[in-house]
Amino acid sequence: MHFIGPHVSIKENIALSVDRAKALGATGFAIFTKNQRIWTAPPLQDEDAAAFREGIRENGYTPDAVLPHAGYLINPATPDRDLWNKSFALFEDEAMRTVKLGLRTINIHPGAYKEGSREDGIKRAAQMIDSVIENVPEIRIAVENTAGAGTILGSSFDELEAILQESKHGENVGFTLDTAHLFGAGYDVKTDPVRILDDFVSRFGKEKLFGMHLNDSKVGLGSKKDRHESIGLGLIGKEAFVEIVKHPATEGIPLILETPDENRWQAEIACLLQESKL
Ligand SMILES: [Zn+2]
Ligand SMILES: [Zn+2]
Repeated sequence: MHFIGPHVSIKENIALSVDRAKALGATGFAIFTKNQRIWTAPPLQDEDAAAFREGIRENGYTPDAVLPHAGYLINPATPDRDLWNKSFALFEDEAMRTVKLGLRTINIHPGAYKEGSREDGIKRAAQMIDSVIENVPEIRIAVENTAGAGTILGSSFDELEAILQESKHGENVGFTLDTAHLFGAGYDVKTDPVRILDDFVSRFGKEKLFGMHLNDSKVGLGSKKDRHESIGLGLIGKEAFVEIVKHPATEGIPLILETPDENRWQAEIACLLQESKL
């Protein structure tokens, strides 16, 4: 079974996200657990969380098909102590929301270390991940790979592995691979998506691939930039995505579209679901 769908809005009520996904024919989807632009949001109400869980059940989704994305304000690698503390409080809150929604896994960007050493940045990111797991033991954390601009961590499998190794709770830590970020970081996902996924599996094991973000890219291989494009309209091209959804590592995990044109989502989902079954 392939869990394919977009990152949908939680506007008005988080439970509506399920209906939005369903209406597009999605078999999986992503959400923010709260408004991602602000540090503090009103608590997740019991009745809203219950309505979301009910929607998941009624519409035939499994919790494993949904991958919440933590807010962009969170910087686990930051050397700024105040920002680290604020980031930690928000990340912990989002992990608790995820569990309250009946879900297991939250996706996080490892962040940017800004100054000082990369190694210290990795340590700070791992420390935040560990602290969240210690306070919310049910949560699994999916560290997302990045295109690697500036001091942003996580643009290579080596660096993802370093974060995992640094964590004391590695059993609860895995990864999300974003195809546009891979391409930006210099992994030629257009030419050889199968080899890249095989390399990931031989290094970490299939069970460490918690999800993928399926995005084509507006910018070139190794550009270090992150500009998403609709599937088939970018520099990666549709064929690579067909190979990805046929790869055994992508079965049973959320495969999330963060593509820019919402009007194409339904067709993108239908096409990739169809290909995954061929
Ligand atoms: Zn992301
Ligand atoms: Zn991106």
